[in-house]
Amino acid sequence: MSTIPEYEPRRLLKDAKERQERMVQELEALVSVESPSENKGAVDRASHLVAGWFEELGGKIRWYRQKQFGDLLEVRLRAMGSRPRQAAGARQKPILLLGHLDTVWPMGTLATMPFRKAKGKLFGPGVYDMKAGVVMALHALAMLREAEAMASPVVVLLNSEEEVGSPVSRAVTQEIALECSKVFVLEPAQGPQGAYKTARKGVGEYTIHVQGVAAHSGVDFEAGHSAVLELARLIEKISRFTDLKTGLTVNPGTICGGTRVNVIAAEAQVEVDVRIARVRDAARVERLFRGLRPTDRGCSVTVTGGMNRPPMERSRATVQLFRQAQEIARAMGFALEEASTGGGSDGNFTAALGIPTLDGMGAVGEGAHAAHESILLSELAKRTALLAAMIAG
Ligand SMILES: [Zn+2]
Repeated sequence: MSTIPEYEPRRLLKDAKERQERMVQELEALVSVESPSENKGAVDRASHLVAGWFEELGGKIRWYRQKQFGDLLEVRLRAMGSRPRQAAGARQKPILLLGHLDTVWPMGTLATMPFRKAKGKLFGPGVYDMKAGVVMALHALAMLREAEAMASPVVVLLNSEEEVGSPVSRAVTQEIALECSKVFVLEPAQGPQGAYKTARKGVGEYTIHVQGVAAHSGVDFEAGHSAVLELARLIEKISRFTDLKTGLTVNPGTICGGTRVNVIAAEAQVEVDVRIARVRDAARVERLFRGLRPTDRGCSVTVTGGMNRPPMERSRATVQLFRQAQEIARAMGFALEEASTGGGSDGNFTAALGIPTLDGMGAVGEGAHAAHESILLSELAKRTALLAAMIAG
């Protein structure tokens, strides 16, 4: 018997480097199929391309058909290898690899932002967030299958509408996560160091609409009840909900209201982004927003919206996964850092169910949702090998 375990980190690193050229080619192919969230046909084209690759790998494909959005792609791979984790016969829980195939970039972006390689980076719409992560997962799994070193079954779930809040995939993600032992999220790593993410804030969106009473500001001033004035008071009030110590932030992002300068405004509205770091703050935030009342009794207030993604708290099980990754990275010759972020991902849903979730296991780069979106070529093989080792481990 070999003394080197089949999942030995340095061997995985070498295998990943040998695959790099193919990974880049496939990434180019995937980036070249534009896939904005709101274009079902486009996202379906991207997911069919990816499904074909996973099928070649021996994955079992299942589609969750959607009317409005792209179909959700589930791939199942059986465990294989000589390192069974449990006694034969015991049903082993799969590992869930979670990603999305939609991007924030509208059709036609490629004309001005084509896939290109320059200065050790790969550029293109969605290359970093997160088509590279999808290609990395594909090759991590391919390496493990070649080495017959997959101790657990794996489920890959790639959705089509993450960038618009995962309205249809959330339930599917949660259902699959509940049968899994852990979740690895293929979102980009954080910052230039490429940190893995062990905590994410929860995200909510509220709209506050004020109905006032219109009147001529010169002729009939006292008959009016200004929705704009009332909204201004409310914005002051909700801004005071912010509590930086506990990571709760409230941002009135957009406002509108009024019709003309000499009319007391009958209507005004604000859209508010809310972030929370602790699960237990969700109910409090909800109460605070629903409890808003007008100061001017001639106005009425309607609050819609709510919390969308729960926070991913830094749980002990997640930290344990991170430590494991850190150790493997060290064995591969690089340092891995840990980070938390205010941004949400689908990992928020699985973490909130109590499933150990490690996020940021995709590409290292910069410029998500920005024109300079790019990944670092030098990190591609390393991070793929690390992902593979984590799946093997
Ligand atoms: Zn993303």
